[in-house]
Amino acid sequence: MQVIQNQRLCFPLTKFLLSNLLPTTYAASASASLLAPKHGNTISSLSVTAHSTNVPCTPHGVEEYVENAFDDEPKVGILKQKIEVLGISLEKTCLPGQYYNLFCPKCKGGKLKERSLSFHIIQDGEFAMWRCFRADCGWCGRVMLHGYIHLLIHVFADNNRTEESLGLEPLGPKLIAFFKDRQISEKTLSRNAVRQMSDNKGVIAFTYKQNGLLVGCKYRTLGKRFWQGKGTEKILYGVDDISNAAEIVIVEGEIDKLSLEEAGFRNCVSVPGGAPGKVSPKDLPPIEKDTAYQYLWNCKEHLDKAARIILATDNDPPGQALAKELARRLGQERCWQVHWPKKDEFSSFKDANEVLKYMGADALKRVVENAEPYTTAN
Ligand SMILES: [Zn+2]
Repeated sequence: MQVIQNQRLCFPLTKFLLSNLLPTTYAASASASLLAPKHGNTISSLSVTAHSTNVPCTPHGVEEYVENAFDDEPKVGILKQKIEVLGISLEKTCLPGQYYNLFCPKCKGGKLKERSLSFHIIQDGEFAMWRCFRADCGWCGRVMLHGYIHLLIHVFADNNRTEESLGLEPLGPKLIAFFKDRQISEKTLSRNAVRQMSDNKGVIAFTYKQNGLLVGCKYRTLGKRFWQGKGTEKILYGVDDISNAAEIVIVEGEIDKLSLEEAGFRNCVSVPGGAPGKVSPKDLPPIEKDTAYQYLWNCKEHLDKAARIILATDNDPPGQALAKELARRLGQERCWQVHWPKKDEFSSFKDANEVLKYMGADALKRVVENAEPYTTAN
């Protein structure tokens, strides 16, 4: 099986390889694991188990998978043309929904000629994206299916971004006390790598990571002034916590994400930039023009896997506008919404952290568990 696993990492498994070079049972299992995200139903109906050598599957079944895999070829073909202009050689085929390690045209894999470019075509074929994982290169970008070659290619001048290079250090007593007052524990702060600026110990640094790599930072003063570090990737805060999550919670701020963790939910992400003033009256723009929500599209591969998305945005008009804008993009049918409990006769709690602070972790857990299907009347 070692051969198959290596192939899966580095090369697309071709029809030829699947059906001719490998024993039938191996071919079936490799095919199933490659195509599982897209053809889950078909695969489960045939009881094919990835990496099993006792697969009850006929060669005919294998052929069917492989043929189906090319349903999206026109879309992928268009993407491929755009990508190859950039010097990325896709070799034979690259199936949507899979990751491939290719040669990076910028650094050519360095001295060791590594296949350092992690390349991915999104499941629905709407765009492709890549990143070179060699520390002294870091070339990354994205090509959209529609419109011109819309590129977000940015070569990081500072792709060796580290906490040290950003001038970050572990939280000191002042900020730990700030979080303690909000019922956020040191354990949660540590797991989420919350830091402070070393030259201004009153500034919180929320580190943004993707695939474990530091890709940016958002800063916050105790006086509630926010700004983003230069070149920060537009992604959801905590995105690594929702890879492969069937159910996710989306909140409006980093401290709300930390609050959800105190209530037992790690499968939570925060939007990076707060809420819009109001819901846009216009139709949804195409993805490449949807600049205010690029952070969603950049995390689409993870969001697509979620069957249920609980919107736990703030209990004010901008927070509700954000929920609506998210639901429009994520598909209202899989969105649920929390209802923040009453604070007193006249008002309700504002967000996850307020509930945690004044009602406790169990109460916050119940609020999330009692989310209801999202409706525009909410
Ligand atoms: Zn490179």
